[in-house]
Amino acid sequence: MNTIAAPHTEQPVVLTISGFDPSGGAGTIADIKTFIHFGCRPVAAITSLTFQNSHGVFGATHENAASLRAQILPIVEEFRPAAVKTGMLPTAEIVLAVAQLIREEHLLAPVIDPVLRSSSGFTLMEEDAAALLLRELMPLARVITPNIWEAEQLAGLRIENEEGMRDAASSLRDMGARAVLIKGGHLPGQKSEEPQQAIDILNDGGQVTSFRGEWIDTQGLRGTGCILSSAMAACLARGMDLEAAVRLAKQFVSETLRNASTLGQARGYAGT
Ligand code: PLP
Repeated sequence: MNTIAAPHTEQPVVLTISGFDPSGGAGTIADIKTFIHFGCRPVAAITSLTFQNSHGVFGATHENAASLRAQILPIVEEFRPAAVKTGMLPTAEIVLAVAQLIREEHLLAPVIDPVLRSSSGFTLMEEDAAALLLRELMPLARVITPNIWEAEQLAGLRIENEEGMRDAASSLRDMGARAVLIKGGHLPGQKSEEPQQAIDILNDGGQVTSFRGEWIDTQGLRGTGCILSSAMAACLARGMDLEAAVRLAKQFVSETLRNASTLGQARGYAGT
């Protein structure tokens, strides 16, 4: 006889503070699916309702500080999240609200995925919000996870190679980050190397680790940044140290890329 499993009360609760992508490729839905894969219980607060499908992003209606607080306060009063992850934080007001909530509610240091724009070029974070992210939120984070382009914008440097990734990570640390993971999937020139490699650089408290893996073409799979940072948050919630969390999260993204199914124009995350 099939029985419905009893809820796992021991499952760590993980909170995503992110944008809602109704097509499920990125944002809150991708985060929730990832938390569940890692045996965590998802809770979520939406920063923006975006309008998109596999062709692109067509617009967004952003939440404000009051509506974000109203979502988060009841959740954190009832459950103490064992990890927090932030994704799309569209406005300065939202960034400040998140920083204030983390301080006031003594939330655990979040994994920050600095979502600046979509792959299709739609702006997901206003410029003044990015400046505040650096000043107000980054110093509160356990780790920030920019890709190459995001790291260039935030650190104000050009990144041409692995050395440049190390310099940008160190520069973001100088600007207040405790740890920085720069994702090298987009590193120029790397694709032509034999064998093709993806290099990610982690600088945690000044200790630098490089992760080398096979470079896998995303072939249009969206939300890989959301999945990686959510997997890291889930692994931290399960008690792993940051390096182990990055290793397992990267492995999960690689598996997801290999197993992704085609849905609309984009390849979709096939699920757990
Ligand atoms: N929409 C939301 C809500 C997101 O959080 C993100 C990325 O984090 C995107 C869109 C962009 O995804 P992609 O880079 O796959 O276009």
